[in-house]
Amino acid sequence: MNLKESIRVIEGFPKEGISFKDITTLIGDGETFKQSVDAFVEYLKDKKIDVIVGPEARGFIFGVPVAYAMGLGFVPVRKPGKLPAETIRMNYALEYGTDSLEIHKDAIKKGQRVAIIDDLLATGGTIEAVAKLVEEAGGEVVTLGFTIELTELNGRDKLKKYDVMSLVEYD
Ligand code: AMP
Repeated sequence: MNLKESIRVIEGFPKEGISFKDITTLIGDGETFKQSVDAFVEYLKDKKIDVIVGPEARGFIFGVPVAYAMGLGFVPVRKPGKLPAETIRMNYALEYGTDSLEIHKDAIKKGQRVAIIDDLLATGGTIEAVAKLVEEAGGEVVTLGFTIELTELNGRDKLKKYDVMSLVEYD
């Protein structure tokens, strides 16, 4: 099956006006799940990546199998209060209000080349915060990889200094 066809689109979730891209149908199918993980691995294989980083929760779903397939470690980025050791925190703007994410301070070694993987690029606010956390922790952000990109929201504009790739686009 085609990757895009495997994504279920639900209009009006979680609120009116949002066209929600549901990846549970993509990952629920062995063929399309493997296809998406393999596509990330193929893209990243010659980029000398040292470690994969992914934000909770859907960044774990794609980031972990990519890390495993490449024989690399995986570093989780989480909501505040979930990581047990010393952390670095980043606040970022949402449509209404702000949110925060954390990374373990010692999770990345200085100069390590990092690929960040998440399920979806919308405004880019979340991934920008993750990239800043990686940089503050001492890593070099090489690639930002997304299963889905909502091109109309121009998330890439915010992320100009990074290499951005996505597997499926919606406009
Ligand atoms: P943003 O910070 O605006 O790029 O939003 C990033 C996160 O919000 C993504 O990782 C998704 O988990 C979630 N998200 C935003 N818009 C959608 C959408 N239309 N469908 C599904 N998830 C979304």
